[in-house]
Amino acid sequence: MAGISFKSSIFLKLTLIVILFGVLFNLSLFYGLRSASDLEPRRDFPRMLRSVERNVMREVGDPPDTSVARRVCYESEVDMRYVSDSLKWSSNPEVPTLVELMNDPEFQIRFKEDNRFPFPYKGKFLSVHRTPNGVFILLPLGSNFTFLPQKAIIILLLLMSVLLISLYFIIRKLFSPVKMLTGAVRQIGEGNYNVNLPHKSKDELGELASSINVMSSKIKSQIKSKEQLLLDVSHELRSPLTRIKLGLEVDSPKDKINEDVMEMEKMINDLLEAYKTESSMDKLNIVETDLTKLVKDVINEYGDDKRLKFISSRESINIKADTEKMRTVFRNLIDNSLKYSSDTINIEITDRIDKAEIKVKDRGIGISDEDLKNIFEPFYRADRSRSRDTGGFGLGLSICKRIIEAHRGSISIVSRLSEGTEATILLPK
Ligand code: ADP
Repeated sequence: MAGISFKSSIFLKLTLIVILFGVLFNLSLFYGLRSASDLEPRRDFPRMLRSVERNVMREVGDPPDTSVARRVCYESEVDMRYVSDSLKWSSNPEVPTLVELMNDPEFQIRFKEDNRFPFPYKGKFLSVHRTPNGVFILLPLGSNFTFLPQKAIIILLLLMSVLLISLYFIIRKLFSPVKMLTGAVRQIGEGNYNVNLPHKSKDELGELASSINVMSSKIKSQIKSKEQLLLDVSHELRSPLTRIKLGLEVDSPKDKINEDVMEMEKMINDLLEAYKTESSMDKLNIVETDLTKLVKDVINEYGDDKRLKFISSRESINIKADTEKMRTVFRNLIDNSLKYSSDTINIEITDRIDKAEIKVKDRGIGISDEDLKNIFEPFYRADRSRSRDTGGFGLGLSICKRIIEAHRGSISIVSRLSEGTEATILLPK
């Protein structure tokens, strides 16, 4: 199946959702905080207050120069009252007097203990600073020191909740197919391979659903093939076995019985050989090999069969390969061509730029388009009754494919019914 386009990937969708919600989050934070400063009586923020207090005190002097103090208070958005024996001054009469503050027992305690402290007064913080000369009482006016009031926190929380709830539903919708996929995988795990998941979406989950469909149908067909193989093997073994039993009963010649024993032995050996090659695929014994010579040697194994014609574009073509496994590949292809055609079989090697190309061509019975799709599946045989005559188990081509792919090469087959078959192998040099 073709890969997922970036445009329809879940990655892109999630990225867009995160960006969108990031923007909405910041907007709600911004407006939430803005409304916070407009909404409520403010409580001053003591830490900020201290730094303002430091600045103001530095400039106004102690005792303060009242004209400077007035300017500084104006610029710093602070109201101030100064109380000493010689000077009682305030920038705004609303700043509480020391006497008013002393009415509060808590203030009295703080005043006794500290020279400098913030103190809450009518929903605000004021700052009290006692110097050797007198007492400063500072009351900031501006919104610079505002603390987030409760109402604004509630608005913010509401906005965030709406955002999070919508985020939850969007992501839930996006990942809703996961539940269906999990169910399908569980079903396969329980041995039910009749899975047919809808895979309309073009994202990763759509691709996963379609891969699960392919996987389950492949497993199903492989199990079916193996079951069929078991039946076929038992059937194939039973015929010579019956003949042997009969032969022994009627005292047939030893040669006849021996022929049947040999047939059974070959069948079992072929099967074992196929499994051996399959299971040793992860341990390739790669060596520098002359491909032309290797193919020639395999052809020679067929004695002087005149049907095999060999052409090579070069005297020798060196590749890195597991020679034994490569021999198996060419044997399988030549065996097939010999089995399914009675005409000449051309075996051609061509030296390409960075690859070696090997073709095995016959003019035999060919393979239908339908069968061609499955030809590399293990135990797949184009026509079982036809293959029974030729004695194959449908393992040859699947083994060829495994071996060639383990060498990072490729194998393909083109064929037409009644016209012939051409197998092409490309191997990196
Ligand atoms: P088998 O051992 O049964 O030949 P293969 O995997 O080698 O198994 O081949 C699978 C099936 O492909 C065969 O059963 C046969 O029907 C078909 N096939 C393979 N090669 C050829 C060919 N050259 N001409 C016609 N049919 C072929």
